Amino acid sequence: MIENFMESLNVTIDANRLWNLLMDLGKIGEGDNAGVTRTSFDQKDIEARKWFLKLLEQAELSPYMDAAGNIFGQIIGKNPELPAILIGSHLDTVNSGGRFDGAMGVLMGVEVLRTLKEKGIQPERTIKVVSLTDEEGARFDYAFVGSTALVETECSEKLKENLASATDKDGISYLEAMKQASLAGEYFNQINPDFIEQAQLGKNDVKAYLEVHIEQGKVLENEDLAVGIVTGISGGEWAEVTIMGEAGHAGTIGMKERKDALTAAAECILAIEKIAQDSSGSVATVGKLEVKPGSSNVIPGRVEFTLDVRDISNECRLSTVTEIYDSIRTIAANRGLGCEIRPVQSLSSVMSSPSVMKAVKDSLQELQYPVYELPSGAAHDAMVLGKLTDIGMIFVRSQSGISHHPDEWSTFEDVALGCEVLFRTTLKLLSTSGQ
Ligand SMILES: [Zn+2]
Repeated sequence: MIENFMESLNVTIDANRLWNLLMDLGKIGEGDNAGVTRTSFDQKDIEARKWFLKLLEQAELSPYMDAAGNIFGQIIGKNPELPAILIGSHLDTVNSGGRFDGAMGVLMGVEVLRTLKEKGIQPERTIKVVSLTDEEGARFDYAFVGSTALVETECSEKLKENLASATDKDGISYLEAMKQASLAGEYFNQINPDFIEQAQLGKNDVKAYLEVHIEQGKVLENEDLAVGIVTGISGGEWAEVTIMGEAGHAGTIGMKERKDALTAAAECILAIEKIAQDSSGSVATVGKLEVKPGSSNVIPGRVEFTLDVRDISNECRLSTVTEIYDSIRTIAANRGLGCEIRPVQSLSSVMSSPSVMKAVKDSLQELQYPVYELPSGAAHDAMVLGKLTDIGMIFVRSQSGISHHPDEWSTFEDVALGCEVLFRTTLKLLSTSGQ
């Protein structure tokens, strides 16, 4: 079906140019296992940023960087006071991730702007492509830094505090890493974590934010569809939990006298699974566990683990989180152990704007392609930017639903169609009048 469809499609964008850039970018940070690693402000991330800035320069898209390290390219509209259309995603990856997550959405934005330029279209309102700093949070366990900086109003102090306290595995703080990156040359000198509020945008600066992203699930594949419209993005709650027990000799301390932090953590983790299973749709994950002192003949005295809870319903997510916290406290207390729960980040669900969804739907219909809607279980920058402006997302089918992995893949045809839908959606949003 897709093959026939691609043959019949009068594609406006240059799919080959887009694909080649995507493959080129995938080489920056490529490891031995073919996975891509570009974590925030590391050497490969800086290299990718330089590559991207050069691309924007070559495409004559007037690049600039803001205080948070977000990189923009743009076509200034005839009426630059009108709120702009923003298309974007992120260039950072997880450790040993894929070539598509984030990078595809950013490069599609560039392709859309290039196509507009080549067609000689100067829109009424300004259109920008943006690569947002650190969506993944892989290096400092702190995500959505670029998008948060764009929308923060009353909370920029909190953002600064988090940048000062978040550290990578070598003990380098986020703040230090950003200051180091600000020395990387032209454009980079705009990075300024001490005055990160300079990156903030007002509601009158942006009319809508559009993001194309790989689905990272199997829904589209099961439906035999290349592209889908995202209805909304699940909110999330992230926390760190510490269980405090007593370390002791594995041979001399009897089972009844023990205060084993790991067995308590194990009970907590099973309880977390059960609470999520019994909820109306929450998903909960413990993805990281640290056992101290971490010796085979010592009873674990202290365990730290992470908690990640998501739900499209804010109400259900909060009730799941409350139940989990209560359960952890009860389990620790029943075993005579201490516990500490530190909430790290909390993001509400965001629904896509009906007007943006309609523009995507109309574009699909124009292309005589089936319209299919699905929610996003994964968090995206669009969720954060939903606090600032109307958002909309387009998902492109992921082969076998694999993501955050070297095998992450979307086909040339699917990527081409996704970008064509983005281009047509953008034209529709640019043509809408008013603020
Ligand atoms: Zn992503």
